[in-house]
Amino acid sequence: MAKPIVAIVGRPNVGKSTLFNIFANSRISIVEDTPGVTRDRLYATAEWLDHEFMMVDTGGIEIMNADAIAVSIRQQAQIAIKEADVILFVCDARAGITTEDADVARLLRQSKKPIVLAVNKADSPKQEMNTFEFYNLGIGDPIAVSASNHLGLGDLLDAVVAKFPSDKMAGDLEEEDEIKVALIGRPNVGKSSIFNALVGEERSIVSDIAGTTRDAIDTPVVRNGQKYLFIDTAGMRRKAKVDEPIEKYSVMRSLRAVDRSDVVLMVFDAVEGVTEQDKRIVGYAHEAGKAVILVVNKWDLYEKDNSSTLRYTETLRKELVFLQYAPVVFVSAVTKQRIHRLPEVISYVAEQNAMRIATSILNQVIEDAVAINPPPTEKGKRLKILYVTQVKIKPPTFVIFVNEPEIMHFSYQRYLENKLREAFGFEGTPIQMIIRGKN
Ligand code: GDP
Ligand code: GDP
Repeated sequence: MAKPIVAIVGRPNVGKSTLFNIFANSRISIVEDTPGVTRDRLYATAEWLDHEFMMVDTGGIEIMNADAIAVSIRQQAQIAIKEADVILFVCDARAGITTEDADVARLLRQSKKPIVLAVNKADSPKQEMNTFEFYNLGIGDPIAVSASNHLGLGDLLDAVVAKFPSDKMAGDLEEEDEIKVALIGRPNVGKSSIFNALVGEERSIVSDIAGTTRDAIDTPVVRNGQKYLFIDTAGMRRKAKVDEPIEKYSVMRSLRAVDRSDVVLMVFDAVEGVTEQDKRIVGYAHEAGKAVILVVNKWDLYEKDNSSTLRYTETLRKELVFLQYAPVVFVSAVTKQRIHRLPEVISYVAEQNAMRIATSILNQVIEDAVAINPPPTEKGKRLKILYVTQVKIKPPTFVIFVNEPEIMHFSYQRYLENKLREAFGFEGTPIQMIIRGKN
């Protein structure tokens, strides 16, 4: 099920990232503790009144050739208008309405997108009075908030949630045995070339004509009796290229595609390697529990000797520490080298992501692991692992019942995870562990 996307738009210093961090902290992500995942986050999953949604701070989106601040705010707003479900426009009660605010408001008004107007830094009742002038922006009721003092935030989230599209909440119509695949990567790494090499040129043209809605342009493919659905992402179809992105990385589109997928193909250009934005996007795939394959494309252009793939893989492993489990495939969309292997790898990691382990075998493996390497002690207490059970698939999620959850060390948890991987594989998929006390 795809989560609605809320984009936070506004001038620098109005408090966008402060608000973002408050909302993001309502959920603890498994990425936070993972070394190598950037903390400087651009998006986060948040929750309010049983609604899960994705939040994007447009202040962090890298814009192509943006020099002036006014230009980049404008472009961030345009990206939000194009890709978000709800726009949260943030202004500053102390500064009042600036020309840049008015400029963005005009764009937003014309867009007819659902908009929520937050006037931040209303720290006191007097400053709250200042928020009335923001009616002049013509985009509805201003909601006075103070991110610093945590005032008005509930009302703000109520207003955001009220604007969610209803079809997003109903969920997608799913075909059970179909593997949903998202191709993610910067412009020009070769996503559409890989896609075309996989599905055939004529196929993508057909889907172009048929497509009217976003979901209709997803492309179904059958290979060896297995159904795949390739999710449409930025620039995947030739037609979309006319509408060149102003963004280096189509963040919201990518997040949405990841969200709807089972398997993420993270595509790199062999010569250019991994970028910070790649890490963020694929970090989200990890956090969301998706199976991930690292696809190194344009391998034909890379100067090789007989240890190149090994060394390249090592470098990738260092750059993407949290993705040790992801298989690496070296391909060329131009020469078609190893492209035919992709469907097989996709099916394999999808299976691993949906694998269920019988409780008895699971407990046997953990018992053996504990016997080889006993758990840590702390303040005279020794951690005891009482029972393990798998509660979920996609990703495989385990609850580990222990005597004292506080003395479970991250390093010991990592050790157990490694033992589970040794025993069962789980190749290409993150696994999640929940530590619980006895009661
Ligand atoms: P951004 O550039 O829009 O992301 O703004 P930041 O979140 O970085 O905030 C800019 C500055 O405003 C920081 O120094 C914040 O501490 C401050 N700030 C954020 N929210 C409030 C608020 O509600 N009241 C006051 N007084 N200051 C705030
Ligand atoms: P996208 O923006 O990620 O969809 O990238 P495209 O598929 O449009 O490819 C960008 C450019 O790289 C095009 O000129 C492709 O012909 C070229 N390209 C894509 N894959 C390969 C490859 O494996 N080898 C070489 N040499 N060029 C490639």
